[in-house]
Amino acid sequence: MEYYRRWLADDVAQTCPLCSQKFTQIRRKHHCRQCGNILCSKCCNEKVPLPQLGFEEPERICDNCLEVTSLVTKSRSLQMSFKLEAAKGLTELCKDPAGLTKVVEMGGVQTLIFLSQSGNDEVKAAVATGLQILSTHPPLHSVLAKCGGIKALCSILSTVNESQEQTLIDGISALMIFCKSPELKAQALADGALDPVLTMCAMKEAIALLALMTLSHIVEHHGNLAPLIESNRNALPRILALTKAQDEKIQEISLRILAQMSVGTDWQRHRIVQEDFSAGRCLVEALTRGPKNLQVLVNASCLIANLATGDQDQMSLRDCLEAMCSLTSSHTGHKDIQTHVSRALGNFANFHQNSAILVCMCQG
Ligand SMILES: [Zn+2]
Ligand SMILES: [Zn+2]
Repeated sequence: MEYYRRWLADDVAQTCPLCSQKFTQIRRKHHCRQCGNILCSKCCNEKVPLPQLGFEEPERICDNCLEVTSLVTKSRSLQMSFKLEAAKGLTELCKDPAGLTKVVEMGGVQTLIFLSQSGNDEVKAAVATGLQILSTHPPLHSVLAKCGGIKALCSILSTVNESQEQTLIDGISALMIFCKSPELKAQALADGALDPVLTMCAMKEAIALLALMTLSHIVEHHGNLAPLIESNRNALPRILALTKAQDEKIQEISLRILAQMSVGTDWQRHRIVQEDFSAGRCLVEALTRGPKNLQVLVNASCLIANLATGDQDQMSLRDCLEAMCSLTSSHTGHKDIQTHVSRALGNFANFHQNSAILVCMCQG
């Protein structure tokens, strides 16, 4: 309806909106099938099939619509080279504001999302870059979510392997932006974001760091903790393994995620202690390694303070209690560390089996 109303309104126009020339017997009026505007024969001279609008035969398209429309048409081709041209072309256009507006108005966003299913790594790489650019524009977030943009990212991240480093980095960067918003994070989890994010946590450090930062946004609200711990048996071992990464930023974030997870139930805290035991005691190592980045110690001592509330884990946490005791004397000036250490010692002190160690510390 909207389309025809515009046709009627434009019928009275005397000049072409693109070149501003008067319409004459020679410079005749033509309708662009994409935008519905009336233009002169020079500015509306190309013909392109528009299967996306239901026109299988070539139709008249104005110069303003030609570039994006041809790319959208090419995305429908069965030939992979055309699909690749479409993905690369649309992504390139997204890089400048005028191009981005056209891409959004002429169905380019939906086209990029459609192309994510192509099964071709090069196409997926271009789509991931395009979605990453689009994700940096918050007004587009709801459109992207509604059209399946988050699902497309999850599917790309689940299907490309570690050698496609740039695709993974673009895709996870976009997903991380979505996971900062509570609603879009819920959608991301529903669209299956957790599995690829956890898989990427086990990849090379440049990718693992971005995956961990995304995971940290995912666990930020307690509602999401139970599925994370319960549904994926790889979750805890992977996060614990990263507390031993070379990069101290990765240590810091993985410990922060564990600290966030340890706010849940007694059972969840017990699972963290159990997995730490199986993983070869990463937590006591984190406390005793002497990192340059003191936030590692802040997060580790916060985590231990939370874990120290569990009755059944006191034996397993004995080493951690001793490590906490030595932190009281080694980092006396650091307020955050001391706050968590005192909280941890307070929690440990509730259990009689720890009294000998605590008394010993007071005397030492
Ligand atoms: Zn014109
Ligand atoms: Zn047009």
